[in-house]
Amino acid sequence: AVRVRDLHKSYGELEVLRGIDLDVAAGEVVCLIGPSGSGKSTLLRCLNLLETPQSGSISVGGFTVTDPDLDVDAMRRRVGMVFQQFNLFPHLSVLENCTVAQVKVLKRPAAEAKRVALANLERVGLSEKADQRPAQLSGGQQQRVAIARALSMDPDLMLFDEPTSSLDPETVGDVLAIMRGLAADGMTMLVVTHEMSFARDVADRVVFMDGGVVVEQGPAREVIGSPQHQRTRTFLSRVL
Ligand code: ATP
Ligand code: MG
Repeated sequence: AVRVRDLHKSYGELEVLRGIDLDVAAGEVVCLIGPSGSGKSTLLRCLNLLETPQSGSISVGGFTVTDPDLDVDAMRRRVGMVFQQFNLFPHLSVLENCTVAQVKVLKRPAAEAKRVALANLERVGLSEKADQRPAQLSGGQQQRVAIARALSMDPDLMLFDEPTSSLDPETVGDVLAIMRGLAADGMTMLVVTHEMSFARDVADRVVFMDGGVVVEQGPAREVIGSPQHQRTRTFLSRVL
């Protein structure tokens, strides 16, 4: 589903990604971990061209993201993204947040969009909040709406960038439970997270980044349970 080769990205003089190779197979859940500033968000943002890399190749779904002739909108339709800040539309209801892109981008009829949105709100346990505004919901509930909104586009792949980092501790579990459910349903997921128990239990593979390179990757239990590199050990000793 995702294939990244020798990806380089700089901001001015600062080289943030220094030759990244990454694969995510269809149906796989990969957790991306690493210290602040290691380039995790930049890597995720390169995957759907929110950032333009300097060199290397990226393919996502059937799309060669690094091809200058890429149909960016067609690619983004296949990739759902959930951010640390939920980025919901504050002036729209929960339901409208989940229908607007279906209608505008996928050209779905309004009734079908509503049906799909309600099914996904049901899936995240929030169908009874459909008519409320985002500001009336807790952070965890807003993040669940953001997930329902992304799912309503029927993505092939879901990218999560620290989806629980800005939540109150008591709502983190609800969001992680939704993500566990998605993983169990076979969704392909690339998740930047500091939730090591989630990574250990849910991820097929864990990728540890530091300083713009992949230092170590492998089955979740191996990387977290018996890391091979000193940098990985140091990082894990801080977050575990
Ligand atoms: P965190 O865990 O704190 O979210 P991260 O691993 O996601 O960190 P990135 O956000 O990818 O790290 O940032 C990597 C480096 O790139 C940092 O040094 C950051 O300051 C720099 N950087 C990120 N975005 C920009 C930008 N738009 N312009 C300039 N520098 C940037
Ligand atoms: Mg980040």
